[in-house]
Amino acid sequence: MSAVASGTGQGWDEVADVVVVGYGAAGSAAAITAHDRGASALLLEKQDPAAHTPSIRMSGGIVLCMNDAEAGARYLDACAGGLVPEAVSRAWAARAARLRGWLDEVAPQLGLAHVAGPERPQFPGADAVEGYQAGARFRHDPESGMGRALFAALASAVEKRDLPVRWHTAARRLVVEDGRVVGVEVEQSGGPAKIRARKGVVLTCGGYEFDDRMKAEFLPAHPIYFYGNPGNTGDGVRMAQDVGADLWHMNRVVGRAIAWFPLDDGRPQGFMVQMDPPGYVLTDRYGHRFANEHGQAQLLHDFYHHLTVFDSDRGEHPRMPCYWFFDDRRRRAGPLTWTQMGAVGVGMYDWSPDNRAEIDRGWIHGGDTVENAAAAAGIADPVAAARTVADYNAGCATGVDAFGRPFESLVPLEEPPFWCVPLWPGGSNTTGGPRRDERGRVVDVYGEPIPGLYAAGELGQVSGMLYPGDGTNLSEALCFGQIAVETALDEG
Ligand SMILES: Cc1cc2nc3c(=O)[nH]c(=O)nc-3n(C[C@H](O)[C@H](O)[C@H](O)COP(=O)(O)OP(=O)(O)OC[C@H]3O[C@@H](n4cnc5c(N)ncnc54)[C@H](O)[C@@H]3O)c2cc1C
Repeated sequence: MSAVASGTGQGWDEVADVVVVGYGAAGSAAAITAHDRGASALLLEKQDPAAHTPSIRMSGGIVLCMNDAEAGARYLDACAGGLVPEAVSRAWAARAARLRGWLDEVAPQLGLAHVAGPERPQFPGADAVEGYQAGARFRHDPESGMGRALFAALASAVEKRDLPVRWHTAARRLVVEDGRVVGVEVEQSGGPAKIRARKGVVLTCGGYEFDDRMKAEFLPAHPIYFYGNPGNTGDGVRMAQDVGADLWHMNRVVGRAIAWFPLDDGRPQGFMVQMDPPGYVLTDRYGHRFANEHGQAQLLHDFYHHLTVFDSDRGEHPRMPCYWFFDDRRRRAGPLTWTQMGAVGVGMYDWSPDNRAEIDRGWIHGGDTVENAAAAAGIADPVAAARTVADYNAGCATGVDAFGRPFESLVPLEEPPFWCVPLWPGGSNTTGGPRRDERGRVVDVYGEPIPGLYAAGELGQVSGMLYPGDGTNLSEALCFGQIAVETALDEG
C-alpha cells in the first residue's frame, strides 16, 4: 500500500490515492475497501472524535442484504418506482448479495443476526431481502447496541488497517484541474489546507438534514426535521453542484412523524418516537384524526406523506405539527423515544425512564382530560380533539376503527392524566444529492461522469419512491462505499 504523504511541494498539504470525505457508514466502507485493494486512503471528518455522531452511530444498525442478486434487483427496481435506472438497482443488489459475507469478514465480532425482511412483501423479488443487525450480545447491552455496535466494529477495522483519519477537518470545495477532480480544500483547526487525491475523491458526507435553506428549497414541505447527525449539513451537495454535478431525489426523505425539541445548548434535535405500547391517536392541528397510525407505530418509512398535505383554502399545512395523544399508562410504560438510538444513544440527551423530566421541560403537555391536554399543547380546537379520542375509544370497544387500524392496536385512552406531544414530518435522512451511476461515479447534467468524483451513502442515495426495508440506508452506504472506491482505483 502506498502511504499517505504529507506535502508535495505544489501547494498540497497531503496526498493519498483516495480521499474520503466523511467518516460514517459509507466513508468507513470506502476507506477499508481502498486499503484492502492496496491503495492509500485518507478519511476527512469534520467532527471531533469526542463528539463524532455520524448517523450510523445513532442508527438501529440494521443492514439490508440480499440472498439472491437477481430477485433482489427486481425488488429494488419495483421499490424505486422509475426513479432509479435498473442498472443501478442491479449493481446495488449484486453487492448487497455479498454484503453479509463482507461484514462477517471485516467485522466478525458483530455476530450478525437476521432481524428484518422487506417492507413491501407483495413486490416481485421481495423474498430476497434480509435485514441483519449486531447479534444478541450487543442488542441487549444498552451501552453498546445497534448502530453503535456496527460503527464501533467498522471503526475497529479502520484502526486495524492504520487508516489515517483527519478529525476536525471539514471539506469545503473540490479542486478541479483540466476537468478532473484532483483534491479537496478543507478547513482544519489550524486553518485551511489542500489535500490531493491521486485516484479520486469519494463524497460520503451524508445528506442535508440540518441545512434549513436546502430543505426549504427542495423538500415537499417546510419545516421537515430529522433525528440523525447534526453534522450532515449538505456540504457534499454544494461541493458536487459547484463542479457541475446533476442532482437527483432532492425531494425525497426516509420519513415519518418525529419530535423536535431544544437540547440544553439551545440547539434543537429530532427524536424518533416510540408510540407503542398501543393506546395512541394522532390528530391534526384542529383535533381531527387523519390516518391509520399503525404504520407510524410500526416504524414504517412513509408516514410523513400523510403529514405534508397542504390545505390551499386555509393556506397552511394542517398536520404540521400533528398531535400525538396517549394516556398515563403509556407515559408510565417507558421513554417515548428509543434510548439505544438517536440523540439519546450517542449521549446528546438523557431521556428519563418515566418521561417526567420531559414533562417538566414542557415537551409533553398534560391535562386531567383530553380537552385540557389538547389545550395545553396548543391545538386550535381542543373540544374536537376530545371528541376524536372519544370516537376512537368507542371504536376500540366495538373492535372497528374508522381508519382501519388492526384489532390488536385498538387500545383505548382512558387513564388520566392524558398527554399530548406535537410531532413533525421528518425522519432519519434525506436521500437527495449528486446523481450517480451504477459504478458510483457522480455524473454531470449531461449524464457524463465527472472524472475523479464518486459518492456513496445518503448523499444522493440510489433509492427511489419507496423504502425497500429496514437497513436500506446502511446497505446502500456500505455497498456503494465499496463500489465507488473500486471504480476510482480501476479508472484513476
Ligand atoms: C436514529 C436513527 C436510526 C436509523 N436506523 C437505521 C437502520 O437501522 N438501518 C439503516 O439502514 N439506516 C438507519 N438510519 C439511517 C442511517 O444511519 C444513515 O442513512 C446512514 O448512516 C448514512 O450513512 P452515510 O455514510 O451517508 O452518513 P453518516 O453515517 O451520517 O456519515 C457522514 C459523516 O460525514 C461527516 N461530514 C459531513 N460533512 C462533512 C464535511 N464537509 N467534511 C468532512 N466530514 C463531513 C459527518 O460528520 C458524518 O460523520 C438511522 C438513522 C438514525 C438517525
